[in-house]
Amino acid sequence: MKKPNVIRTVLSVAACKLTRFILRKTGRGGTAIPGIVAMKIAGNILLTASEGMEIVVVTGTNGKTTTCNMIEHALTQAGCDCLLNKSGANLLHGIAADLISNTSWLGKPKSHYAVLECDEAALKQLVPFISPKAIVVTNLFSDQVDRYGGVENTLKEIRMGVEKSPSSTLVLNAEEPLSASLALNVPNSVVWYGLDKTVGPQGNIDLADAGFCPVCDGSYKYDYHVYAHLGGFYCPKCGYKRKSPDVAVVAIEKKDTTGSTVLMKADDTVQRVVISLPAVYNIYNAAAAVAAAKAMGVSLQKAMDSLASVRSSFGRLESFDLHGNPLQMILVKNPAGCNQAFSYLLGVKEDFTLVLCLNDRTGDGHDISWINATDYEKLCEDPHVKKIFVCGDRAQDLFERLKKAGAEDGLLQIVTDYQELLKLLLEQKRPIFALPNYTAMMELRQVLVQETGKKDFWE
Ligand SMILES: [Zn+2]
Repeated sequence: MKKPNVIRTVLSVAACKLTRFILRKTGRGGTAIPGIVAMKIAGNILLTASEGMEIVVVTGTNGKTTTCNMIEHALTQAGCDCLLNKSGANLLHGIAADLISNTSWLGKPKSHYAVLECDEAALKQLVPFISPKAIVVTNLFSDQVDRYGGVENTLKEIRMGVEKSPSSTLVLNAEEPLSASLALNVPNSVVWYGLDKTVGPQGNIDLADAGFCPVCDGSYKYDYHVYAHLGGFYCPKCGYKRKSPDVAVVAIEKKDTTGSTVLMKADDTVQRVVISLPAVYNIYNAAAAVAAAKAMGVSLQKAMDSLASVRSSFGRLESFDLHGNPLQMILVKNPAGCNQAFSYLLGVKEDFTLVLCLNDRTGDGHDISWINATDYEKLCEDPHVKKIFVCGDRAQDLFERLKKAGAEDGLLQIVTDYQELLKLLLEQKRPIFALPNYTAMMELRQVLVQETGKKDFWE
């Protein structure tokens, strides 16, 4: 691949910045259009726009955005100037728009580091342009099945990306057998992260997503379990097993709704690490961020320290203050993520109101059958849930699923529009948790942003 000439570069950068400026003036932030325009003018503009940068790309089913936030925070705390694609536009052209907007008029990057969230299927398109120093894969779960054709197919898509980037260090979850298999048959170096066998809650092992041993096609067994198909997996037939992590959480000292305190081991030292976001999956995200710092050659000490002050944003456990009453929003989009959110809610030891929103638009995946594989029964057993508002295009389906799960009539209420929902939420006297899927989150978030005066993500 060849870099575009100077004239094309200048035109491409100008078109990108101008398009983005106009779109933002008209209130449309996170779109791919500026990237499409720029790459129409100069197809290889990303070669120029990323030249000399040290880039970490984050992909996987759950936890991408939070892990990106954590890595960016760690790099910034270590004194690195860092670009983060925080708009959520994580396909090729959306990422291109962010990278090109970060350059001078001649296409020279302004920041030396970048943390880029990338869709699983877009990885193979992106990496040839930007040659990332590290590729983080958080985990793989069934997600948007109609879009990718199943989790095995998603794994293949990611592998194609990895194969196009042999010099990138892979940062992989040691306990998640699907993404761990990416380390097989590639020359890339790997930094493993995970939870040591002595920690983690024991729940039901859900092997629906685990797949089979990539060496001999045997079924996995587990000598300990964390959640879903994550844990100390091994193949009794051929001996293929979980790798010992380079960044390991060896003990969880405290875990509540404000966050966790853990002991983390890396490079033969053990440090107490405070993680400012709650739930076990954020312990994994935190370990991934420290492992990414290791892959990027950044101070591990600073990365571990930074986790105490990281803030989530844009729907992933985002907090709003509804005139004194707290609302926490957690994006949910598949059974594994939703069940983890329920586990988190079960840890809440006071009464609360719940909002569940379900859409089935393009950004969500049209297939909503995943709600049948989600453990609403467990949610309905929680005595602290005092009211559930059900909202979104597929509210009726969700309502029926909840009834089937044992929710009583008085508990449930379908709300058809977000202004009406807001009115009801403002009347609540107890904390509120909202669990929307993607496009529902965008709608709910807009109403909450207007009410609370919080800034939009691109401001
Ligand atoms: Zn095997």
